[in-house]
Amino acid sequence: MTRSEQLFEKAQQHIPGGVNSPVRAFKGVGGTPVFIAKADGAYMYDADGKQYIDYVGSWGPMILGHNHPNIREAVHKAVDNGLSYGAPTESEITMAELVKQIVPSMEKVRMVNSGTEATMTAIRLARGYTGRNKLVKFEGCYHGHADSLLVKAGSGALTLGVPNSPGVPADFAKHTLTVEFNNLESVKQIFADCGDDIACIIVEPVAGNMNCIPPTEGFLQGLREICDQYGAVLIFDEVMTGFRVSASGAQGYYGITPDLTTLGKVIGGGMPVGAFGGKAEIMNHIAPDGPVYQAGTLSGNPIAMAAGIAALTLIKEQADSIYPTITHLAEKLCIGFKQAAEKAGVALTTNQVGGMFGFFFTDKESVTSYQQATECDQAKFRKFYQLMLEQGVYLAPSAFEAGFTSTAHTEEDIAKTIAAAEVAFTKL
Ligand code: PMP
Repeated sequence: MTRSEQLFEKAQQHIPGGVNSPVRAFKGVGGTPVFIAKADGAYMYDADGKQYIDYVGSWGPMILGHNHPNIREAVHKAVDNGLSYGAPTESEITMAELVKQIVPSMEKVRMVNSGTEATMTAIRLARGYTGRNKLVKFEGCYHGHADSLLVKAGSGALTLGVPNSPGVPADFAKHTLTVEFNNLESVKQIFADCGDDIACIIVEPVAGNMNCIPPTEGFLQGLREICDQYGAVLIFDEVMTGFRVSASGAQGYYGITPDLTTLGKVIGGGMPVGAFGGKAEIMNHIAPDGPVYQAGTLSGNPIAMAAGIAALTLIKEQADSIYPTITHLAEKLCIGFKQAAEKAGVALTTNQVGGMFGFFFTDKESVTSYQQATECDQAKFRKFYQLMLEQGVYLAPSAFEAGFTSTAHTEEDIAKTIAAAEVAFTKL
C-alpha cells in the first residue's frame, strides 16, 4: 500500500470523501488521490516522495510556480506582525491599488476570502443595484457554491454528475436562468422574454470549468450589448482567467469591459483571497456606503494581503515576460499532445488561451459548447489520466477542468510531458 492509499483510507474516516473539496477525491478519474507533501516551482511531491510535473497549480493560483521566494518571504515577514487584526491596514490599500492598476475596469474593489464569496456578493450587488431578481448564467460554467449559482454548474458538480445540487430550494433556483455558452441567440431570446426582470449576466469569459472553452467571435461583445440594452449588470467571473489569460484577464485579452469583475486564485498568491469590484457607481451600493450587505471577519487578512501583493507586484512588473512565456508553454503542450495523439491514431482536440488549456477526446475539429464537451470520451480521458500520473504528470483529475502552465515550467518539462503523452496515447 502506498502512503497516499493509507492516508486516503484514514482521511475517509474523518472527512467526507476524505477531502475538503470534492474534485480532489479523484472521482472523475478513479483510483486513489495523490496526497501531497510539498511543492516547489513546477513540481509537486507526494507523500511517497514521487515527483510530478504539475499542471493544476493549486487550481490556478500558482502562475509563478509553487513556493515562489518573493511570496514566501512576504508571508514570513507579515507573520512576524501578527496574524489578523479585524481592523483596516495599509496593505489593503496597496492591494486595491495594484488590482486597479492591473485591471482598470475595477474602479473600486473589495477583498473577500474565496471566489465563491466574490461571485455570491457580486450577484447580490447586481440584484440590489438593479432592484431585479433574475440572473443569467451559462450551462457548465462554475461560479463557486452559492445557492443561486449551483444550477447547471460545471467543475466538481459536473464531474460528479450533480450539476443541480439538492439543498438549493426551488424558490431560489427559479431566479437563475441558464442558457448555452457561446449561443448569443439563446441569451437574446431570454432577454426578449423577461429582460426587465434580469439583474445580471454572470459569465466565465473563457469557460474553464467544463474543460477549456474560449468564447466564440462576438460572444462577449454580444453580452455587453444585451446588458447595455436592458440595463443589466455584466459580471465577468475572472476567478480563473484573471491574471491568467493576460495580466488584465480575459477583459484585457478580448477588449470587453464588464461592469463588475470577480477575482480569486492568482490574486492571493496561494493564500485564501477573492475580490470583487467594478464601476464605482455600482460598488457604492455595498455596505457601509450603501445598503447591500457584505462582510468578512478575515477579509483583507494581512498575511493573505502580503502574499497577494507579492504576487501582483511581480505580475505588474514582469507582465511582458510572464504572459508570453506561459502562453508559449501552453501552446507547445497543446501542439505536442495533438501530434502525439495523431501518431497513435487517437482523436484529440485542444483549446488554449494564454496559460490556460484543455484537451478533448473527440473527433470533432473544435469544441465550442457544453454539449460537445460533455459528449467527449470520458473513459479514454480516465485511462489517459492514470497513464500520465504513473509517469509523473499531474493533470486536473477531471475531464471538466482546464489546465494551467506557470512561469516555473521549462521547455524540458513540456518535452517530458509530451513524451509521457506519446506513451499514454499508444496504450489507449
Ligand atoms: N469562479 C470560477 C470561474 C472558478 O473557477 C471558481 C473555482 N474553481 C470559483 C468561482 C470559486 O472559487 P473558490 O473555489 O475560491 O470559492
